[in-house]
Amino acid sequence: MTGAGVSAESGIPTFRGEGGLWTQYDPVKVASIESFLADPTAYWRVSRERGRVALAARPNPGHVALAALEAGGHLVAVVTQNTDGLHRDAGSRRVVELHGSGRTVECLTCGKTEPRSEVQARLDVEMPPRCKHCGGAVLKPTVVLFGEPMPAEKTQEAFELASRTDVMLVVGTSLVVYPAADVPLLALRSGARMIVVNAEPTPFDRFAEVVIHGRSGEVLPEIVRLTDE
Ligand code: NAD
Repeated sequence: MTGAGVSAESGIPTFRGEGGLWTQYDPVKVASIESFLADPTAYWRVSRERGRVALAARPNPGHVALAALEAGGHLVAVVTQNTDGLHRDAGSRRVVELHGSGRTVECLTCGKTEPRSEVQARLDVEMPPRCKHCGGAVLKPTVVLFGEPMPAEKTQEAFELASRTDVMLVVGTSLVVYPAADVPLLALRSGARMIVVNAEPTPFDRFAEVVIHGRSGEVLPEIVRLTDE
């Protein structure tokens, strides 16, 4: 299971932790469905800058290592809270995106989607961006905002994986966002062992068999190297 920390070395700021976005913005103001609906322009102003960074980002050695562990038969799937798409770019095949994808946007009226890259290109002249198909409803990234439910199918898939796994490798997440943090919790309750790789301590460290405080782009390639020996 991964979180924003695994993409930090790709240049995408995390929410919490050193340099995290929430030192600059109030999360409830910028990342809740309530505030999106009340003032979509304010949301998109922040999203425009974040989108610029995320669309230009490339996988780092941490993403590549997870894809290598899957290819080598050591990893069944990646359950991620990230919306940046970098796990798939790195070659991970089974990726469960619990919080949706930032690579597309949707119309809240007609439900049609468009690639984020196309919408990103018109944000300088159209703010907030509007649906091309139904004539004018405001577009929203296909990500789960605070106050929105997680996608039912993805959540079920993540819980099924968690209940069957022998080992839960948790990387780059503060593990304070629920219900996403229920996934490693369920793994523990189902008898799995846990490995935590994170830059800073997490509330789950005391339940883990192994805790490595470090950068995922450095630690994960080392794990791949050891599994290859
Ligand atoms: P978080 O910001 O709450 O926590 C990130 C954690 O990663 C921190 O504990 C930090 O110490 C650690 N970290 C920072 N750099 C690291 C590195 N190089 N290696 C290992 N660990 C590192 O993130 P979260 O737990 O994923 O939860 C916040 C929410 O933020 C999620 O719901 C997610 O959807 C969203 N988010 C996603 C992205 C993205 O898609 N890249 C970026 C920011 C936030």
